[in-house]
Amino acid sequence: MVDTKYIFVTGGVTSSLGKGIISASLAKLLQARGYKVTIQKLDPYLNVDPGTLNPYEHGECYVTEDGAETDLDLGHYERFLNVPTSQGNNVTTGSIYKSVIEKERRGDFLGKTVQIIPHITDEIKRRIKILGTKHKYDIVITEIGGTVGDIESLPYIETVRQLRWELGSNSMVIHLTLVPYLNASGELKTKPTQHSVKTLLEAGVQPDVLVLRTEHELGADLRRKVALFCNVNIKNVIQSIDVSTIYEVPLKMQEEELDKRVLEKFDLPVDDLPKLKPWKDFLNKLKNPQTTTEIALVGKYVELQDSYKSIYEAIIHAGAVNNCKVNVKWIHSENITFENISELLGSVKGILVAPGFGHRGMEGKLTAVKYARENNIPFFGICLGMQCAVIEFAQNVLNFDKANSSEMDEKTPFPVIDIMEEQKNVLEKGGTMRLGSYPCILNKDSKAYKAYKNEDITERHRHRYEFNDTYIDDYINGGMIPTGINPETNLVEIVEIPDHKWFVGVQFHPEYKSTVLNPHPLFIDFISATLA
Ligand code: GLN
Repeated sequence: MVDTKYIFVTGGVTSSLGKGIISASLAKLLQARGYKVTIQKLDPYLNVDPGTLNPYEHGECYVTEDGAETDLDLGHYERFLNVPTSQGNNVTTGSIYKSVIEKERRGDFLGKTVQIIPHITDEIKRRIKILGTKHKYDIVITEIGGTVGDIESLPYIETVRQLRWELGSNSMVIHLTLVPYLNASGELKTKPTQHSVKTLLEAGVQPDVLVLRTEHELGADLRRKVALFCNVNIKNVIQSIDVSTIYEVPLKMQEEELDKRVLEKFDLPVDDLPKLKPWKDFLNKLKNPQTTTEIALVGKYVELQDSYKSIYEAIIHAGAVNNCKVNVKWIHSENITFENISELLGSVKGILVAPGFGHRGMEGKLTAVKYARENNIPFFGICLGMQCAVIEFAQNVLNFDKANSSEMDEKTPFPVIDIMEEQKNVLEKGGTMRLGSYPCILNKDSKAYKAYKNEDITERHRHRYEFNDTYIDDYINGGMIPTGINPETNLVEIVEIPDHKWFVGVQFHPEYKSTVLNPHPLFIDFISATLA
C-alpha cells in the first residue's frame, strides 16, 4: 500500500464504552485481511506516562517490550493483534507538553510565541504520523482518550480536524457513542448520540462511521434517524451490542461490516471475508468449557479489577487452552489473617499473589503464600508475589527472623529481597524502574522449562528490588531453587519449590505477553496444575 491510512476513534456521551476494544477489533479484522496495522492511544492527562499513577486511578500500567509504561488499552491491542506495541503507541498530554517545552528551552522555536495551535497540535501530529512514516504501518488506528467536549481532549480533536484536512481521503473518523435504553418507557434513545456528534461537528470534525454501544438490538428506523441527524450513511451506523466476552467483539464487528465500511472509505478492495479460524477456535473453547476451576487472586487493588487486567486476561486465555472455566476469587490482601485464611482460601484450587508496591497488605500476602506452600496448593507469584514467596520461605522455613524485602523494612537483618545496585541512586520515580524485556535462561529440570519447552526466554519487567544473591545457598539447601537466571547479571528471575505440586514465583510479568493466539505457557501450566 502506498500511503498509510489513518483512522481516528473518538468517543462521546460517556467513558468506558469500549473504544479500546472496538479499535482492537477493527484492527484485528483489517490485520486478517493482510494489512500491517497498529493502534495508538492518546491520553489526555498531564502525567508523562501512567507509570506514576496509582492503579486505583487508571487500572493497570501495561509495560511494552521496549520498556514503556503505558495505558492498559495497549494490552488489549497486543492481546488482539498478537504483535508487540512500543513507546510510540501511547502518547499523553504530559509527554507532548514535555517535548514542546524542552524544544522551547533549547531555543528551537527561534523566538516565536509557543502556542497550543500550532505547536502542541504539530507535536501531536508528529507522534501520530511517525507510526506511518517511520514504522511503515499500512493502517494506523489512533484512539483518542476521554470524551468529546472534555476540555482536556480539545487539542486532540483539533489535531484530528487538521489531519483530516491534510490527509484527505487517507483518513477517517469513527465515533463511538451510547444509545441508552430507558426502562420506564421501554425505549432506546438517540439524543445523546445526536448531541455528541454535534459537539464533534462544532470542533469541525464530521465522523464517517458511528458505532453505537447498546444493550438491545438497534432497528432500521433508529439507525435511519441517527444517520439523518448526524450526516452519515445509514450503512455506516454500526451497532455494538453487549456481549459476554470482549473476544466476541471482532466477530460482531465483522457481522456489522465495520471493516468493509472502512475499506470502502479508503477505496481498498473489499474481497473475501477473512475466516478468523484460530480466533473462532479460541472463542469456541472459551464459551464451551468442559470443566471448572477456581483460583484466588490476592492483591491490594482488587476493588478495581482493571488493576490486574493483563493477569485476568492471561488466566482467561489459559483457561480456554485447558478447556476450563476459571472462576477468579478476588481477595484483598489486607483482609487476610491467620484466623480467616482457611475460610477465604480453603476452597480454591490455586493461589496467585499479584504484583504491587509498598508494605500495605504484605502480611496478608505472606499468609496466603504460607497457606499455599503448606497445603500443597498450586501457587503462582508474580513480581511482588514472587518476592513474597522468597520472604515467606526465609521467615518460616529458613528461620531467618524478621527476614523481609528492604522495600518493606529498611532495617531487616535478612534483606532476602534487596534494592538492585543500579537503583540505589535513583531518586526520580517516573520511568526509572527496571523496565521492559530481558533474557532469562531456564534450568532444564524445572516446572518453568516444562511449561516453556525452551531454555532461552525473554520476559518483561517492572521492579526495583531483586532476590538477594547472598542467600542463594541457604535457599537451595532449604528447598527453594532459582530456576531462571538473567544470563548477563545473574539476577534471579524464577524460584520454585520442587517438592511442591506447583510453586513458581517469577520476578517478571508474564501476563503482558499472553495473547489470544499465544496464551502464556506459565499461566497454562498453572491452570492445568489446579485441575490435576
Ligand atoms: N515493589 C517490588 C519492586 O519494586 C515489586 C514490583 C512489582 O510487583 N511490579 O521490586
